[in-house]
Amino acid sequence: MPEILPGVHLVEGVEEFTHVYLLKDKGSTWTLMDTGLPGASKAVLAYLTKLKVEPTMVKKILVTHLHRDHVGSLRAMMEATHARTFAHWIDAAFIAMDPKYDGPGTPPAEPVTVDETIKDGDTIDAAGGLIAYHTPGHTPGHTAYYQPERKLLFSGDLFFGDGDGVVLTTPEYTHHLPTAQISARRVSHLSIQSLLTYHGGPILKDGGAAVRAVTSKF
Ligand SMILES: [Zn+2]
Repeated sequence: MPEILPGVHLVEGVEEFTHVYLLKDKGSTWTLMDTGLPGASKAVLAYLTKLKVEPTMVKKILVTHLHRDHVGSLRAMMEATHARTFAHWIDAAFIAMDPKYDGPGTPPAEPVTVDETIKDGDTIDAAGGLIAYHTPGHTPGHTAYYQPERKLLFSGDLFFGDGDGVVLTTPEYTHHLPTAQISARRVSHLSIQSLLTYHGGPILKDGGAAVRAVTSKF
């Protein structure tokens, strides 16, 4: 089973180019990081079955940003798990399609209202404690989640895996590239062991070096 790090699972069977992470909390509960495209919920639920985890043991679903490949199965997973859902207050409005998102990348397929809107610096009692880092640029409310104890950064689409390293979010999918550069520079100051990217990667060791290799170019 793809438990890539202790308590960090890369869910099998979802669209190959998307990394949905299932995270073990400190107790017996679980957290889902992004949800995949519409239909990916089947694979997530099948994976939970394989782990012998009841869907209702998933207590929180965290969203990095509004794009369809991240929120496509949000409603289905909410219905299956009854988990509390979290997204940054800006992207939460776009996920609710109020207003509709008109920026680059594919918008949500259906409106979903998350339970909790978050802001930069909020801490979430999930996966041993996560800190929200508002990292706009890819989308206005893009948020990465940092686990300081284990130095894990769930970086959403701030970076894309590219061979052994990463590149910055590509311009065609990016709301504002210079803002993404500023966000990347900000997280480059974090101590990062594992960089848990959503497309390509992840970089399990010395993720910080992969980030700095990008930010040193601008
Ligand atoms: Zn995206």
